[in-house]
Amino acid sequence: METGRFYVLPPLPYGTKDLEPFISEEQLEIHHDKHHQGYVNGANAILKKLQNAREEDVDVDVKASLKALSFNIGGHILHSLFWPSLAPSSEGKEKPGGVLGNTIDKEFGNFERFKKEFSQAAVSVEGSGWATLAFCKQTNRPIIMQIEKHNTNIYPTFRILMVLDVWEHAYYLDYKNARGKFVDAFWNIVNWNTVNKRLEKLLK
Ligand code: MN
Repeated sequence: METGRFYVLPPLPYGTKDLEPFISEEQLEIHHDKHHQGYVNGANAILKKLQNAREEDVDVDVKASLKALSFNIGGHILHSLFWPSLAPSSEGKEKPGGVLGNTIDKEFGNFERFKKEFSQAAVSVEGSGWATLAFCKQTNRPIIMQIEKHNTNIYPTFRILMVLDVWEHAYYLDYKNARGKFVDAFWNIVNWNTVNKRLEKLLK
């Protein structure tokens, strides 16, 4: 990913039609090109505002600025993790393998139990938010982290392996208000290879 002094929208790692029929081209384009871009722009605007205020040595509303910055950076980072968490429909596998498969079995008993708990976390997010599979380095255990908005209920320093966006903007064009149907569809396009690699990297 490109790095620099400001945030940059990463390109999608597949074509805009590649997630069909689970996520339509129109839904994916709006989500990536408009919503994700909006968080990138929002975060950069606040960084610039803080920078200008420092240069001119004037006060800003620090509390409001940092709250908005947390929201927009959270949105950017989570979306940047989300796109590679998905795989083209043609490449979908039902279950994770490798160290990820073993880690899930050890923690949750079996994959079906994990899938059920993760789906319940996703469906029950209050308002807008995310279901994520995160990993704690202190305990070496995976944990389902249910994030409200982009930045509430997060465990500091836990590494995120997999994310599912359940903001209405992620599914409304395809599924209307039926979040559960979108969550069911998600399981067809999880990129288990990427999620497994994220865990392998952490365990090294
Ligand atoms: Mn989103």
